[in-house]
Amino acid sequence: IIRVENLAVVYGEDHVLDKVNFTVNKGEIFIIVGGSGSGKSTLMRHMIGLEQPAGGKVFIGDTDIAASGEKAISLALRRIGVLFQASALLGSMTVAENVALPITEFSGLPAEAVAAIVQIKLSLVSLECYGDHLPSEISGGMKKRAGLARAMALNPDILFLDEPSAGLDPVTAAEIDRLILHINQTLGTTIVIVTHDLDSIFAVGRRAIMLGRETGNIIARGAPADLRDHDPDPEVRRFFTRRP
Ligand code: ATP
Ligand code: MG
Repeated sequence: IIRVENLAVVYGEDHVLDKVNFTVNKGEIFIIVGGSGSGKSTLMRHMIGLEQPAGGKVFIGDTDIAASGEKAISLALRRIGVLFQASALLGSMTVAENVALPITEFSGLPAEAVAAIVQIKLSLVSLECYGDHLPSEISGGMKKRAGLARAMALNPDILFLDEPSAGLDPVTAAEIDRLILHINQTLGTTIVIVTHDLDSIFAVGRRAIMLGRETGNIIARGAPADLRDHDPDPEVRRFFTRRP
């Protein structure tokens, strides 16, 4: 469903990504890992067409979204939902208003219909009683769930999550993992996750790629448990073994 071909990203002198090739299959949960600054968020921004690469292509289905480049196009295609690293709910709006934003913007539905959809999305993430709260009035885990509800607002085929459990305690992080699995299993949503969280990687991921810090390319790919136990590169094995 996603094909990244020879992606190259250069910021100034810095070759952040180089010769990055992989595919994400429809319906899978695909994990992107790598050290801080290895280019994970950059890769995700390119996968959703937010930035133009120095080279290479990104296909979502048959659409070369690196060429179209417009965030508006990919969102309007209704195919992708995104939870950014800084989940960025608008602080002046309630949780329900935040979730309603993409629906109002892209569906043209009347207010009552939008409100009904918002309620469904809030119950998906168990926040049906918190629609009237401001983001400042709910916990970090609830904010992530509200962000997930907003990312799911337009029933995307593909969900992109940049560090969905960062900054959460292990119990709350495990709740997010369960929610991710629930969305994947009940709705068939393809999910691409950037994460450092080993618990999360082993709980939800079937396939992973690891970006190298210096090299800008993929230094390992495969099932997380295989990378931990059998990868020839000790740095890769260490990454998948370390405990927080
Ligand atoms: P983290 O784990 O800390 O989130 P990351 O793997 O997501 O890190 P990126 O945020 O993708 O890493 O950054 C990769 C590299 O590219 C870093 O060296 C960063 O400074 C640089 N970089 C990222 N975005 C830009 C930009 N818009 N302009 C210039 N340099 C950038
Ligand atoms: Mg990042």
